[in-house]
Amino acid sequence: MIEEKFDAIVVGAGMSGNAAAYTLASRGLKVLQLERGEYSGSKNVQGAIMYADMLEKIIPDFREDAPLERHIVEQRFWMMDDSSHTGMHYRSEDFNSDRPNRYTIVRAQFDKWFSRKVREAGATVLTETTVTELIQDAYGKVIGVRTDRRGGIVHADVVVLAEGVNGLLGTRAGLRTPPKPETVALAVKEMHFLPQEVIEARFNLRGDEGCVIEAAGTISKGMTGLAFLYTNRESVSVGIGCLVSDFAQAMESPYALLEDFKRHPSIRPLLEGSEVKEYAAHLIPEGGYRAIPELCGDGWVMVGDAAQLNNAIHREGSNLAMTSGRIAAEAIFQVKSRRDPMTKDNLILYKKMLDDSFVIKDLRKYKDMPNLLHTNSQNFFMTYPQLVSKAAQNFLHVDGTPKLDKERETTRAFVKARSRLGLIGDAFRLALAWR
Ligand SMILES: Cc1cc2nc3c(=O)[nH]c(=O)nc-3n(C[C@H](O)[C@H](O)[C@H](O)COP(=O)(O)OP(=O)(O)OC[C@H]3O[C@@H](n4cnc5c(N)ncnc54)[C@H](O)[C@@H]3O)c2cc1C
Repeated sequence: MIEEKFDAIVVGAGMSGNAAAYTLASRGLKVLQLERGEYSGSKNVQGAIMYADMLEKIIPDFREDAPLERHIVEQRFWMMDDSSHTGMHYRSEDFNSDRPNRYTIVRAQFDKWFSRKVREAGATVLTETTVTELIQDAYGKVIGVRTDRRGGIVHADVVVLAEGVNGLLGTRAGLRTPPKPETVALAVKEMHFLPQEVIEARFNLRGDEGCVIEAAGTISKGMTGLAFLYTNRESVSVGIGCLVSDFAQAMESPYALLEDFKRHPSIRPLLEGSEVKEYAAHLIPEGGYRAIPELCGDGWVMVGDAAQLNNAIHREGSNLAMTSGRIAAEAIFQVKSRRDPMTKDNLILYKKMLDDSFVIKDLRKYKDMPNLLHTNSQNFFMTYPQLVSKAAQNFLHVDGTPKLDKERETTRAFVKARSRLGLIGDAFRLALAWR
C-alpha cells in the first residue's frame, strides 16, 4: 500500500480522529489517517450539539468556514408522562454573543469540513480503507496496521485508535473488552425537513438561533433513556436512546419508542408536515468512569468513544472525543520532541494530561450516576414523571378545592407511589451521586 513509515497512524475520521490527526499534522508530524467510510462523516451519527470551546482549542477560527447550523439560545428539559410534559426552559440573549458556545451541526457535512482541515494541515487521509488488524512485534508493541487494501500493511511509531464505540480493532488486539449491554445505549435518530421560516416560527427563533429539547420520562417505558429534538437550519433532528440491556430485558424496539415519542401530543405539532429524509441508529458509550479501558500501551493510544469517553449525564460526547484526540496528539508530540520511544511508560503522559482535564474530572464526578439511574429506572423514568405531572395538574386545576386539601392530595400521591423511605432514599442516593 504505502512503503514509507509514518510518525503516527490515526484509525478513524470522526471527532476524535480528526482532532488527533489535525493536531499531530499541524505540529509537523508525518500522519496517515485511515477511514473505512466513503468520506469522513459518512458513517457517523450524532444529535448533534457541538461545543465550540473544545473545537476552538484545535481550530481557533473555525467559525469562519465550518458548516454550523444554528447556535443554541434556548434549552428545554422536559419530564414527560403519556399526555403531558413538565418543563424547565432556559433562554438568554447572552447566547447571541459573537462567539456562541453551542451549535447544532450535521455530522456528514461537519466531518467533511474537519477532514479537509486535516488534509490542509498536511496529513495523508485515505477513505474507503478499513483497518483490519493492529500489527504487533514479538513483545506486543503496536508497530503498524493491516488494512483491506492490496498489500495493505503500514508501519508507524504510534497508532491512535479513534475507531468509535464498537472498538473492534482494540478488542481483537486484547487492548479493551467489547462494550457490555448495560454500558452502551442504542440511539435512533431521524432528520425531519421543514422550511426555515416554519422552524423559526414553531420554536420562537430568529436568524441562526437554535432551540434544544431534551426529554425523559414514560417515553422510555421505564428504561434508562433520553429523547431529544434539536433544530437545524432547515431540519429538526429527533431521536431517542436507551441502554441495550434494557431493550433486551423489556423486549422493546427503539423504532417503536421513536414512533411513540413523535406521536406524543407535546411533540407531534412541532414535527407536523415535515419530510423525513434520514434515519440512523448508533451506539453511545454510557458506562461512565468505571467503563474506561486502558488508555495507552506500547505503540498505541485510545481516544473518544473507543475509550468510552462519553458523559451521558450531561449528554456530551463529541467534546470529550475532540479533547481526548487533541490531548493524545499533544502528548505524542511531546514524546516525539524528546526523541523518546512510543512506549507505555512515555505515552502515559496522555493519561496524566487527560486526568487533569475536564474529561476525566467530569466522568469521575458522576461515576455512580449511570448505575443509579439504571438500577432505579422504574422510579426515575416512570413513577416520578407521573407524580410530577399529577402534582402540576392538581395545582393548576381550579375547582374550589381548598389549597391545603390539594397539597395533602399531592403529598398522599407521592407517599402512596413510593414509601416515604424509598422516596427519601432515592433523593439521598441522587444527591450523593450528583455531589
Ligand atoms: C444519536 C446520537 C446522538 C448524539 N448526540 C450528541 C450530541 O448532541 N452532542 C455530543 O457531543 N455528542 C453526541 N453524541 C455522541 C457523539 O456522537 C460521539 O461521542 C462522537 O461521535 C465520538 O467521536 P469518535 O471520533 O470517538 O467516534 P465516531 O464519531 O464514531 O468515529 C469513529 C470513526 O472511525 C471509523 N472506523 C471505525 N472502525 C474503523 C476501522 N477499522 N478502519 C477505519 N475506520 C474505522 C468510523 O467509520 C468512524 O468514522 C451522540 C451520539 C449518538 C449516537
